[in-house]
Amino acid sequence: AVHTETHGFQTEVKQLLSLMAHSLYSNKEVFLRELVSNAADAADKLRFKALSNSELFENDGNLRVRLVIDKDNKTLTISDNGIGMSRDDVIEHLGTIAKSGTKAFFSQLSGDQAKDSQLIGQFGVGFYSAFIVADKVTVETRAAGEDSNRGVRWESDGDGSFTVADIEKTGRGTDVILHLREGEEEFLDDWRLRSIIGKYSDHISIAVEMWKDGEPEQTDEEGNVTAAATDGEWEQVNKATALWTRAKGDISDEEYQEFYKHISHDWQDALAWSHNKVEGNQEYTSLLYVPAKAPFDLYNREQSHGLKLYVQRVFIMDDAEQFMPTYLRFVKGVLDSNDLPLNVSREILQDNKVTAQLRKACTKRVLSMLEQMAKNDADKYQGFWKEFGNVLKEGPAEDYGNREQIAGLLRFASTHNDSDAQTVSLSDYLERMKEGQDKIYYITADSYAAASHSPHLEIFRKKGIEVLLMWERVDEWLMNHLSDFQDKQFVSVTKGELDLGELDDEETKKAQEEAKEALKPLLERVQTALGDEVKEVRLTHRLTSTPSCVVAGEHDMSTQMIKLMRAAGQ
Ligand code: ADP
Ligand code: MG
Repeated sequence: AVHTETHGFQTEVKQLLSLMAHSLYSNKEVFLRELVSNAADAADKLRFKALSNSELFENDGNLRVRLVIDKDNKTLTISDNGIGMSRDDVIEHLGTIAKSGTKAFFSQLSGDQAKDSQLIGQFGVGFYSAFIVADKVTVETRAAGEDSNRGVRWESDGDGSFTVADIEKTGRGTDVILHLREGEEEFLDDWRLRSIIGKYSDHISIAVEMWKDGEPEQTDEEGNVTAAATDGEWEQVNKATALWTRAKGDISDEEYQEFYKHISHDWQDALAWSHNKVEGNQEYTSLLYVPAKAPFDLYNREQSHGLKLYVQRVFIMDDAEQFMPTYLRFVKGVLDSNDLPLNVSREILQDNKVTAQLRKACTKRVLSMLEQMAKNDADKYQGFWKEFGNVLKEGPAEDYGNREQIAGLLRFASTHNDSDAQTVSLSDYLERMKEGQDKIYYITADSYAAASHSPHLEIFRKKGIEVLLMWERVDEWLMNHLSDFQDKQFVSVTKGELDLGELDDEETKKAQEEAKEALKPLLERVQTALGDEVKEVRLTHRLTSTPSCVVAGEHDMSTQMIKLMRAAGQ
């Protein structure tokens, strides 16, 4: 090997490797899922690139991954003939963690292993999981279309650095050679490996092969040949049919979950999914998942998101964000279209009629999946709401057409429960409205405590009228885009002249009129004293025990919004 260099791992990789070495996962076999998943991705990428340059197949278009056991040397090799990597690719992909926000994520690690392993679970470790079972990993790879002398060998014992050297490699693709740790010999067992592959890798679209020895010649007692010797052969050990192309009824929940982990790089089960095959005007299959836990970078706007796009079963791209609105960016899944051209690019997708239709359809699928969940399993929906509720609240602003449906999915805290649990739906609220009430009352504040103790609520509590309590940063934004629900207007209890309409009885109204006359001189004095500091001083009936409060004008920004804008530097 020539031109050998030693590189240090990125700090975050070092942290990750040391966490794993301390047996982070009780479920060690998942390393195989990760490595086979990478091989399948490499096959997908090659098929895609070969659409425009078939020479990349080097006359071998039969893409597969092979497991090779070497008991003498205690190695297990995962070998693919996919896209392969150049020297630069190797240094970048097998020395760093590319995801943006990684640094911030790792800075949250506490050093407490139990806590950290929880955290790392939502991160996903991919290739580096090789070190769960290996104390040395060698990767030999060559990029498709390159000469055989452009091979690269990467090697590391996971201790902080790795070496890279140029090698000769005839076969295209990547071999990952695991030098198994003492005590991990079970991963040299043929049957053990077959069962792991069956468990995790049936649904991926590439064949996983293992060598099956031939039989020697069989003879009877007289020495007559009863069966000729057979050759050994590579045998496919997984189903290798892309999961979404199979009939729903033939797919088990476990298979759906495994497929989810393959496409999402999540280590945990998904919360729900929706699998649909559509024929007719548009022809497509979608398989959309809602994760159970928010990724660490949910609020990182640069983080890629979107669906895995296939056209007529050929992989086209990851993270096709055109098919999901931003407020549903947590959704993972696959979209396989028969209507888009195979040479589709991000630019073509951007401004395309088919894209727009698919986006609309996928959005509807997700919204109705969430509606079903809310209806059939309120606890599960609460779990969803906790993780993703604040993202969904971006919906009414972004997706005007679906705002009523999105509004139906929102959950709030309210004075009805006197707790900060966000469990009240707008339909719940409507059902509990008082006789004569035709508005949905809400308050936004800095915190739950500030909202629930606001003097603005006094009159509502006294009259037994429910008020929705909001204190998340996004709530103000939400309420600016949500004017009504089922024809009932939203009214902030902190804004403008409070007209309780039918809810005020005649006697109260009369008393209020009298008070207005009697207190006129007082109001004038206060107005003079405060001068330009305020727009207007007026009498209110909304307070029952607090003497006065500041309110925003009906058409002005609320005090909460002003704070928000200031915080944003405007
Ligand atoms: P992820 O699969 O989530 O991107 P991994 O840690 O599993 O993360 O892999 C990191 C990167 O290394 C991959 O994105 C890919 O670019 C590269 N890689 C890993 N395994 C292979 C392989 N068998 N063939 C080609 N590239 C690979
Ligand atoms: Mg991976």
